[in-house]
Amino acid sequence: MKQTLIRNGTVLDIAADGTTATPIPQQDVLIKGNRIDAIQATGAVDARHFDRVIEANGQLIMPGLINTHAHVPMVLFRGLVEDMPIDRWFNEGIWPLENNLEPEDVYWGTLLGMIEMLESGVTTVADHYFHMHHSVEAIEKIGGRALLGWAIFGSLGQQAVNDTADWVEEINGSGTSRIRAWMAPHAPYTCDDDFLRATAKKANQIGVGLHIHASETKAQTEASLSARGITPIQVLEETGIFDQPTLLAHCCGVNERDIEIIAKYQKHEGGIAHAPKTYLKLGEDIAPVTAFREAGIAVGLATDGAASNNTMDLWEPLRLMSMLQKDRLGAEAMPIPQALHVATRSAAQVVGLADDLGAVEVGRLADLVLVDMSGIHHTPLHQIPASLVYNTRPTDVTTVLVDGDVVVENGRVTAIDRDEVVSQAKARMERLSRNRPDQRIQTYNP
Ligand SMILES: [Zn+2]
Repeated sequence: MKQTLIRNGTVLDIAADGTTATPIPQQDVLIKGNRIDAIQATGAVDARHFDRVIEANGQLIMPGLINTHAHVPMVLFRGLVEDMPIDRWFNEGIWPLENNLEPEDVYWGTLLGMIEMLESGVTTVADHYFHMHHSVEAIEKIGGRALLGWAIFGSLGQQAVNDTADWVEEINGSGTSRIRAWMAPHAPYTCDDDFLRATAKKANQIGVGLHIHASETKAQTEASLSARGITPIQVLEETGIFDQPTLLAHCCGVNERDIEIIAKYQKHEGGIAHAPKTYLKLGEDIAPVTAFREAGIAVGLATDGAASNNTMDLWEPLRLMSMLQKDRLGAEAMPIPQALHVATRSAAQVVGLADDLGAVEVGRLADLVLVDMSGIHHTPLHQIPASLVYNTRPTDVTTVLVDGDVVVENGRVTAIDRDEVVSQAKARMERLSRNRPDQRIQTYNP
């Protein structure tokens, strides 16, 4: 079994309850195979016993960040739909543009998005998109970790439920431990109750969770209440979606009763994905993260797609989440250890890997990130956790490991030709930017 040593780093210890975040200097992290085997004071082991030695030279060693909700190939649409509210963003921008999408775009778009994520310290992504066999191919090639969902709309009918369930079973049975799959109905406003019920039943039969957009805005909740007397969250409860582990994207439009329902069904896997940059850009409601956490709901950070979020790193969402909670509840809300807990341990639970990811601890998967905190913007470094939340830039990440393998070295992905990915993205720009609103793939009318 391959053995790797990360020598002389400062290990970030984030408490399981999110109350503290403690940097422990001069530590060696010993990795056997794909898991952390030991963490001990620097100097106690003989480096010659290892297949690979990574000199941390005092850099911070932290758990890989987890992007709990994305549409990675949408990096190919970034910058095309700006300054629009959600209904126009969908109907005049995104859904017409997605009509241009060809299956191979998903491969190159996923590689492009994965470069940005891995190089900024995001080691796991929960993705929700189309033509996902190309996503699998790209993620395997670049060496990331993912929880994938093949997005389906109610208009596609039962066949889509069966087909995507077959694909989910194929992925989960393939022995590719870095990539797992869940069912992925799009949203209560694009999937009718019978379709949601059928998807929930199928997920139950094959023993997997569901990843779905839910209660994205207060307007969606009001529309659901006036059309049928119940909220989108109650729709998910009634249709049996919550009987399986559920990854809920957004939940910005929830009321107090909705929070109680989500908390009642919170399992060891699943929770809420929080994408504050997207909410701010679309001028939408901000999810009550602090209330979710107080109710016992797991919350993780997310980018959503780059068509709304523009970038794929999680440093910006991390500080936006913190500052938005402070803006609403006062400066004591979302203290630094809690923010880091959301980004790591809590996010691991959201993507169904609570015991395997989210902490630098013996026995966990070696998905680790080295952060160079010697830059001017971190100097003088009185408080590492504070600087990590409020000052860190994606380019501070130097080295990234997934499953014990080095996938980013000197700030660059190691497994693929970056230039080829960039030229493939550029070659697709003109075709992907053609906008014919009459040919949109869906219509937003919650
Ligand atoms: Zn989304």
